[in-house]
Amino acid sequence: MSAFEPTTSFELSKDHEDFRSVVREFAEEQVRPHADRWDREHRFPVEIVPQLGELGLFGLVVPEEYGGAGGDFTSLCVAIEELGRVDQSIGITLSAGVGLGINPILSYGTEEQKQRWLPDLVAGRALAAFGLTEPDAGSDAGATRTRARLEDGEWVVDGAKAFITNSGTDITSVVTVTARTGTLDHGRPEISAITIPSGTPGLTVEPAYDKLGWHASDTHGLTFEGVRVPENHLLGARGEGFKQFLKTLDDGRIAISALAVGLAQACLEASTEYAKTRTAFGRPIGVNQGVSFQVADLAVAVEAARMLTYKAAWLKDLHHQGRRSVAEVKQAAAIAKLYSTEAAVAATRVATQVYGGNGFMEEYPVARFYRDAKILEIGEGTSEVQRMVIARGLGLPS
Ligand SMILES: Cc1cc2nc3c(=O)[nH]c(=O)nc-3n(C[C@H](O)[C@H](O)[C@H](O)COP(=O)(O)OP(=O)(O)OC[C@H]3O[C@@H](n4cnc5c(N)ncnc54)[C@H](O)[C@@H]3O)c2cc1C
Repeated sequence: MSAFEPTTSFELSKDHEDFRSVVREFAEEQVRPHADRWDREHRFPVEIVPQLGELGLFGLVVPEEYGGAGGDFTSLCVAIEELGRVDQSIGITLSAGVGLGINPILSYGTEEQKQRWLPDLVAGRALAAFGLTEPDAGSDAGATRTRARLEDGEWVVDGAKAFITNSGTDITSVVTVTARTGTLDHGRPEISAITIPSGTPGLTVEPAYDKLGWHASDTHGLTFEGVRVPENHLLGARGEGFKQFLKTLDDGRIAISALAVGLAQACLEASTEYAKTRTAFGRPIGVNQGVSFQVADLAVAVEAARMLTYKAAWLKDLHHQGRRSVAEVKQAAAIAKLYSTEAAVAATRVATQVYGGNGFMEEYPVARFYRDAKILEIGEGTSEVQRMVIARGLGLPS
């Protein structure tokens, strides 16, 4: 028998690790000193966005002709993980800015749409949002009630969207929304995606939500009353909106998984340090296996979550080169998102427990981590939705 070929399995390259160091240094110097204050003040720090742009983070996966680096999706996950390790709100600002803001325009936009929106988004001079969820259509996003009808060469949009990230900042330039544009033969809605520039008459950005966590991330409801945009604001082909958003969510789930890894990593570091230095009964608390075993389990969960995340990102990069199927990426994304986000929530519970009473105090970042974690199991598809996707991928009836 001949020798086996060496495996070509995924592994982060030296370039990725060097890039990780650059983002980590930025996060430590420019984000960490302010994270608690931004959280306390419930303030979206708009000034950080151009800095993220300058570092090239919004353009990592964008071709050079639109101002990007033409890099891989894996590098974006590294950046999200590193920002998320310090501040989940800033991590989601990047994740949503690229995954939900830039990605649909880059993937489905006409040349004119790309030229119009991408350079500013890549530079961090602007942010874009993606409005899929509605007050009565979340997990069942195909049940969208927002409607758009063609009238005199314009789309007229009426409806509402809920919980839209990056939709109400001072620099938000455009929101892509899904809307019913007709009814298909079998009675199901025809769904299309339409870009709506900020400030279009009839578009109302509702007041920011009062959230449990992600206090420094921008989240608003949007309402549309007779909003008119030119016909060429359709994004991609008419009726393709459903397929487009499913694909957008696959990528977004890997990004959220990376955000969760960053959070779990932060909990591991904080718990390890505290278990070594906090004393009770005359000894460091980490001497007790009741504490150290929890921290050891945390290390296992972080490692597993990171492997699942970067495997999914690797598959996504291979898919981009035509070497992996959509189905493989979809399954890997759902598995990674489900595991990593549940691991992150558990990690914040361990970290706050290890910190004891201090863990309940906002003075310590683990309290913020605890509040920030829960949304990870909900946004871009709940844990239940991930299990549905995984079961479907296994061929189970659903
Ligand atoms: C801070 C924040 C930011 C967000 N950002 C965005 C954004 O930028 N763009 C956007 O479009 N959306 C965004 N969302 C919306 C988010 O994606 C939805 O909240 C999420 O998909 C869940 O939808 P829902 O809230 O309507 O819950 P529901 O769909 O009402 O679900 C409620 C519960 O029922 C469960 N459930 C529903 N159906 C089933 C089923 N068939 N089987 C088992 N369980 C089921 C769910 O898992 C959940 O536990 C954001 C949400 C938040 C909170």
